[in-house]
Amino acid sequence: MSTSPDEARNLTLLSVVVPCLDEEQVIRETNRRLVSALGATPGLDFEIIYVDDGSQDSTLDILRELQQVDQRVRVVSLSRNFGQFAAYTAGMQHAVGDAVALIDADLQDPPELIPEMLELWRQGVDIVRGFRTRRSGESRVKIWCSRTFTRLFNNLSGVQLMNDVGEFGVMDRAVVDAFLDMPENQRYLRGMVSWLGFRQETFPFNRDARSAGQTKYSYKKLIKLAINAILSFSIAPLRIITWIGFLLSGLAFLGIVYCIVIRLFTDAWVSGWAMLSITVLTLGGLQLISLGIIGEYLGRIYNEAKRRPLYLVRERLGFSERDGE
Ligand code: UDP
Ligand code: MG
Repeated sequence: MSTSPDEARNLTLLSVVVPCLDEEQVIRETNRRLVSALGATPGLDFEIIYVDDGSQDSTLDILRELQQVDQRVRVVSLSRNFGQFAAYTAGMQHAVGDAVALIDADLQDPPELIPEMLELWRQGVDIVRGFRTRRSGESRVKIWCSRTFTRLFNNLSGVQLMNDVGEFGVMDRAVVDAFLDMPENQRYLRGMVSWLGFRQETFPFNRDARSAGQTKYSYKKLIKLAINAILSFSIAPLRIITWIGFLLSGLAFLGIVYCIVIRLFTDAWVSGWAMLSITVLTLGGLQLISLGIIGEYLGRIYNEAKRRPLYLVRERLGFSERDGE
């Protein structure tokens, strides 16, 4: 859908996508706040699509209950835990709105801001992205790590990620379709949305602390995510290997020249085993690291080549109401 700048977009339906993993402690409150914020906006028709990402607690039962009493609530239940980005993708694939809002289930992103973001969308912004001016409940170390990662990612990948921007935001239908057309299985959502282009604008807000429950991301999981993100967006590590290779070959060549000179023109020739073993160890280590990096990419190609579905759905609730069956 494209609009000229002075013609406001018309909304027939807003889809809100909420991924949930073990959120029994907050999900009712999330739903209450979403419904009251969206319901208070005159003339706004909406559906809320909760994607249960293989929760082990009673999240799915609560979602079923919520769906029973409100026809605007829909539930997609995945067959197991596929990860937050797969859950968001699943929700987007089920959304039919002209605009789609993405929001975490833990109330760190205030649902009350969606109508304001929607206003920017109406004025022609294709992707409205929440920009965290304050990050409550997150340690300084976590924020520092996240900013360092963003800097590294930007340098290596050529895609410009913004600091302090997450998934929270509103997207136009055209953007959602473009996003869903990206076929990769390893989906780093923030990077993919930045890569898309379109007219993006940030929307500053204060990010609250999680309202209840635990974060689903340990440091271990975050490091895995960071490595995954960089490897799916950049082949710079492979290039670095090539440069190290050139550098070492250059050093070896200088070494050969040095040896010849010493042997032919001086008496200082000694047989040194220490130097030799250090060199062998260093080179062996570097070769193994290089093979490891190449292996990472190979594994990625292997995973993509299998063309497995991104997620599997066990159950859908509330969609027949929407589709009028
Ligand atoms: N989540 C998910 N699947 C996962 C991990 C997280 O659907 O494997 C959901 C989670 O329920 C929440 C959102 O993704 O709605 C963000 O997770 P969390 O709040 O734990 O991340 P943080 O805000 O700490 O980065
Ligand atoms: Mg959170």
